[in-house]
This record gives sequence, structure tokens and C-alpha cells, in this order.
Amino acid sequence: MRLLILGGTGEAALLARHLADRPNLDIISSLAGRVADPVLPPGNVRVGGFGGIDGLATYLAEERIDAVVDATHPFAARMSAHAALACGRMNLPLLGFVRPAWIPEPTDRWLPVPDMAAAAALCRGRVFLTVGRQELAPFADRDAWFLIRSIDPPEGALPAHHELMLKRGPFGLADEIGLLRAHRIDMIVSKNSGGPATYAKIEAARSLGLPVVMVERPARPITDQADTLGAVEAWLGRLPQTP
Ligand code: NAP
Repeated sequence: MRLLILGGTGEAALLARHLADRPNLDIISSLAGRVADPVLPPGNVRVGGFGGIDGLATYLAEERIDAVVDATHPFAARMSAHAALACGRMNLPLLGFVRPAWIPEPTDRWLPVPDMAAAAALCRGRVFLTVGRQELAPFADRDAWFLIRSIDPPEGALPAHHELMLKRGPFGLADEIGLLRAHRIDMIVSKNSGGPATYAKIEAARSLGLPVVMVERPARPITDQADTLGAVEAWLGRLPQTP
């Protein structure tokens, strides 16, 4: 069986590693190419867009892919939609493998918002902005001070008053609390990415009593879903065997 893993996440790399020694399974991991120095999963890796739904369908046919696991970032809505449409067209099985969203605890002060524009509208004072580097435009004209953290340098316009911190997680709780205190942060803006690697900022906000503007996840296509490696394996086991 030839399996395409749409990746770019820690879960996708973990899955590729977990399945690497499985007999009769060829894995190709696909990365968007957003990060300059990505952590590569083991095995075959391809990098860059497919060229839309048609490009992906052509790739699936040319590479004789038998099944697809969509383990992209929970906010990579376009790639997930393309995967659902291309797999539907090619009649290929597709599994969504997404880390669960974070859930607020009773003392958390979350302000849930549907998108970046709504998040930007709530920004006041000194803001820790941790939404990646691609979607900062709505914050550019806000009259607040921002500590912007991303892995690679941001693209496009940035707010007039900001400090940039280029860093890759995982981040620890003590460091996050120290960072928030040192910069006298009033609020955090975060995507509800889920997973442990960037959760410490949420715990740090809780312990300091700070509000978190939480950008909720975009809708994903309705497909089979798994959120553990075991569930992915079980799904693979249920697929018809290729000759
Ligand atoms: P997107 O908006 O869903 O995808 C845009 C295009 O990028 C897709 O149409 C596709 O191009 C290409 N693409 C995305 N993922 C791909 C993959 N795994 N393999 C090959 N091509 C891929 O996703 P995005 O632009 O990557 O990111 C959207 C959101 O997810 C942002 O909020 C970003 O911060 C977050 N995010 C993404 C990643 C990541 O590694 N992708 C990691 C962390 C966070 P074609 O149409 O040409 O096929």
C-alpha cells in the first residue's frame, strides 16, 4: 500500500515514524514548505503545493497512492478541503488525523473569536501575539504594543509598535511566565492549535490571570477521523488490501 501523509505537524512526523517499519507500506510525507528549516519525518518526503485540487488529483494518480492521511495543521483548512475533494474524485480513502483542541479550564479567561480580524479588534495594551507569521495583517493598524513570536520572520505589514521573537517550540511553563512578566503582557492572542508544544503559554496566562484571545479552528471537511496513532493503525487495517 502507498500512503500519502499530508503533514507539516509534529503528529504527522510521529505517524510517519510510527509506521516506518511496517511491512508492505510505502509512506510519502508531504510538507507545505512554510518553514525554512523543517523537522523532516523519516522516509520519503516531498515539499511544496500540489497546484490545487487538480494538481493533487494528478499527483495521487501518478504516484499510485492508495490512501491519504490528512495530518495537516488544524488551521490548514484549504489543504484539508483540497484533500477531501481530490480523494473524493479519485475514490481514495481519506482519514483526518488532528490533535484535539484545547479546552478551557474553570479559571481560564478565554475570549473566543472566529478569525484574526475579530482577534485584532480585541487587542489593547501590551499583547503577546502567537498566531504564526502568515496572518498578521489584521493586527498591522492596531494601536497596541505587540510581542510577536514566530518560527520564521513574518511576511507583510506589521504593527507600528512591536518586538519580534523568532523561536521554535516546545516552550516550558517557567520560561513562558518569565516572558509574560518581563514584557508586562496584558493579553495573549493564540490559535486553538491544540497539542502540548505550545500549551505552556495558555497555562502561563492561567497562572497570571491574563485573558487569552482564542482564535477558534476553521471547519474541516467531514471524513473519517482519528486522534491517536492506534486509531490510524486500526483505520489502515480496515482498508481493502491492494494486490
Ligand atoms: P492552507 O491554507 O490550508 O494551504 C494553502 C496551500 O498550501 C494549499 O492549497 C497547498 O497548495 C499548500 N499546502 C498546505 N499544506 C500542504 C502540505 N502538507 N503539502 C503540500 N502542500 C500543502 O495551509 P497553510 O498555508 O500551510 O497554513 C494555513 C494555516 O495553518 C496557517 O494558520 C498556518 O499558520 C497554519 N500552520 C500550517 C503549517 C503547515 O506546515 N502547513 C504548520 C503550522 C501552522 P496547493 O493548493 O498548491 O496544493
